[in-house]
Amino acid sequence: MQPITSFLQNKWFIAFLVLLFVVITFLNIPIEKRKYGLSQSNLATDYTGLLPEKIQRVVKAENRIQLQEIVRDANKTGKKISVAGLQHSQGGHTYYKDSVVLDMKTFNKVLEVNEEEKTVTVESGATWEDVQKAVIPYGLALKVTQSQSIFTIGGSLSVNAHGRDIRFGSMASTVKQITLLTPTGEIKTISKNDREEWMKYVLGGYGLFGVILDVTLELTDNHIYTIHTQEIETDEYENYFMDVMNREKTAMHYARISVATSSFLEEMYVIDYNYTGKIDNKTPLKEENGVRLSKLALDIGRQGGVLEDLFWKTQKHYIQSLDGTTITRNNVMRSESTFMEFTKSDSVEVLQEFFIPVHLFDEYMKNVKNLLPSNDKDQNFKIHNITVRYVAKDDQTTLNYASEDMFGLVVLIQHGVNEKEIAHAQEIIKKWTDLTLEFNGTYYLPYYPYQTKQQFYNSYPNWAIFKLEKSRRDPNEVFQNTFYTNYILTRGTVR
Ligand SMILES: Cc1cc2nc3c(=O)[nH]c(=O)nc-3n(C[C@H](O)[C@H](O)[C@H](O)COP(=O)(O)OP(=O)(O)OC[C@H]3O[C@@H](n4cnc5c(N)ncnc54)[C@H](O)[C@@H]3O)c2cc1C
Repeated sequence: MQPITSFLQNKWFIAFLVLLFVVITFLNIPIEKRKYGLSQSNLATDYTGLLPEKIQRVVKAENRIQLQEIVRDANKTGKKISVAGLQHSQGGHTYYKDSVVLDMKTFNKVLEVNEEEKTVTVESGATWEDVQKAVIPYGLALKVTQSQSIFTIGGSLSVNAHGRDIRFGSMASTVKQITLLTPTGEIKTISKNDREEWMKYVLGGYGLFGVILDVTLELTDNHIYTIHTQEIETDEYENYFMDVMNREKTAMHYARISVATSSFLEEMYVIDYNYTGKIDNKTPLKEENGVRLSKLALDIGRQGGVLEDLFWKTQKHYIQSLDGTTITRNNVMRSESTFMEFTKSDSVEVLQEFFIPVHLFDEYMKNVKNLLPSNDKDQNFKIHNITVRYVAKDDQTTLNYASEDMFGLVVLIQHGVNEKEIAHAQEIIKKWTDLTLEFNGTYYLPYYPYQTKQQFYNSYPNWAIFKLEKSRRDPNEVFQNTFYTNYILTRGTVR
């Protein structure tokens, strides 16, 4: 028998051991899910888990009569109701102290696809993925949705979400009709021309104007696009984007800004989706492949310093490899999300989004660069990602974040979870919000409430109309959530 030392001198054996080690390590990268939701001993939390609250009970939505009875009962008894989709909002938007929470996920049928009119009618607890599966055989796709298809329709309309489309306006503008269970318990069909103007408040209404039961949405063709990618400097982006808007061949677009130390906020890459003239009714929805590899890359980037530089280089390399390839519209609208899961108990990853007018981007970014530390040494405030999307002017909703054509900067931030650490992150985010307001910008409301009330009032000057209509249409204040009490219900002092 060969002695063990002679095995260890064999380079193939050593290589085999190294490979085995890498494979075992790789397969053991945990793909955990965040623990949040509605069933933790009557405590509700949302995606960040930062705002736990005791609720009275959760009702899984079964049918409209059941929901109507709950709303009518609440009007008589003074109970409060909150509405929850997939709870990816991060500021207590889906629950309220001692409230009855309607869990809409079980109310999720696709009711009709109208091929001729290019519309889909769907219950509000369905996800965009459910809709995509139903419309693909007809060669159809959504006009506007988030960059991922994991969210519910009701949750997305209630924040008036946006994504990679640059041609169809706001999500609100793609809604034809809604069946609404009003705060007083009536079931109404509402549309844009309806004299009572419900849509202005229900869309982007954060579940405060009743329950969206089902909705009819406009669709478009499931085009096949050619992907164009390019690396540019941040100060070239404004002009680059104006060109994109002027050339009709581009249907969708987004960009990413470097947060790596050596090119912090200076480099970007852009991705355009250009028409090929072909429409697809066969290509299946892409699955999340290589989750472990993507998670490993992101976890390496999360370490900061040279490792973040390495992550940025890897991303650029990957994006470059997509140049010239093709993809369907439905698949552009479902980018991966599982690899982003972050489950460390002593810190949290949150999102913030700042909107600024397109023509002020360049000047704004110079100011953001002065505001944020680029050295990555602040262990308690790390920026892991910034993407840029175009957000078209919206004139349909009252709590409107885009009163003109804007860019949305979606920022992924990691910070600690004790009081001091949250306060530290809040200070930076408040300064960033002030800067954004100086540039006639706004910030997005589905996220954690770092902003002061005054910043909210300045960003959303129609808040008082929203509040007035809320008290008119929901006289018993039946629909409640933590976001509403934080910012709108009481006109408090500035935090
Ligand atoms: C990883 C991640 C990526 C994101 N990407 C984007 C993006 O690309 N673009 C973008 O715009 N946003 C984005 N968001 C924000 C996201 O769009 C919102 O948080 C959206 O509300 C999530 O949908 P949901 O089903 O989880 O809604 P929930 O969080 O469950 O609910 C959101 C709001 O809608 C209300 N609501 C839910 N269902 C109904 C109903 N049937 N009737 C009435 N009210 C209802 C709730 O009361 C609540 O106020 C992202 C969030 C995360 C966490």
